[in-house]
Amino acid sequence: MHELTEDTIIIRPPCEAWSVLVGVTEGCTWGKCKFCGVYNGKELVQRYRVRPWDSIKADIDEAWLYQRTLPRRAFLAGGNALSAPTELLLRILGYLHQRFPQLEQVSSYAKNHDILKKSDDELERLAAAGLAIVYMGLESGSDAVLKYMNKGTRAAGMVRAAKKVMAAGIKLSTYVVLGLGGKMFPDHAIETARALTEMNPDFIRFRSLNFIPNAPLHAEWTAGRFVALRPVEILEEQLYILEHLGPGMTSHVLNDHVSNFADIDGRLPGDMQRITGALKALIADQRIRALEHRNRTSM
Ligand code: SF4
Repeated sequence: MHELTEDTIIIRPPCEAWSVLVGVTEGCTWGKCKFCGVYNGKELVQRYRVRPWDSIKADIDEAWLYQRTLPRRAFLAGGNALSAPTELLLRILGYLHQRFPQLEQVSSYAKNHDILKKSDDELERLAAAGLAIVYMGLESGSDAVLKYMNKGTRAAGMVRAAKKVMAAGIKLSTYVVLGLGGKMFPDHAIETARALTEMNPDFIRFRSLNFIPNAPLHAEWTAGRFVALRPVEILEEQLYILEHLGPGMTSHVLNDHVSNFADIDGRLPGDMQRITGALKALIADQRIRALEHRNRTSM
């Protein structure tokens, strides 16, 4: 077994818990989002680098050696593994499918810049080689929120990247952080609904904002400069976003994170009424209305 070091930290979406995890990059090319302390917040957790092919191949071989069941999914790990050179990603995808011929899905995290930097042809080759899904953090559709959070991009760039990756035949799962505008940015909800409508991503995954001690936002929150939403306000924000999506949305909507207050899993447009009905019932519940924000210090 490997000793746990900076090099062996692997962060993955909850839904990839049972996937073969292949560390492609370490850290994140950006690492400056105010709400994120995952790789380098106030303290450096893991610096960015693209791992060498020999190490990646050795990890795939080890995963193959120790597999207990035939894995159907693999995840290319790293804060934004799509930032790796396309030829390396193609080599990894090819080897993964050679070792695990039964694989049905390979996915990775991506920043919008990673998608925009690749040509259409590169993305199409990645799709043909088996890259099925990228997880991209929209976080908010509000440029004011994105700027405050130092996301390093605007909503229009996110929408462009979303359309580009889906046009190449790769599914898009995008994250929205409920409460990211706090009490200061009321346009978070309406602008997020607008960006999601423009994207119509395959998956919309909601998370609720928590203040991670290593993230710069934690200090702003404890100093009272950022005021968090209460649980009922988080639920109201999610309801508002969903009710303001445009017509024609076909996304799969999920609250599949420990930070969420509602259990939601449904497809638009058919499940919209069921989802909004569940949110309305929670919002009307006096026990939930009485809850104050309680912070989780880890995810
Ligand atoms: S939120 Fe994503 S892009 Fe921003 S610093 Fe964290 S890992 Fe990097």
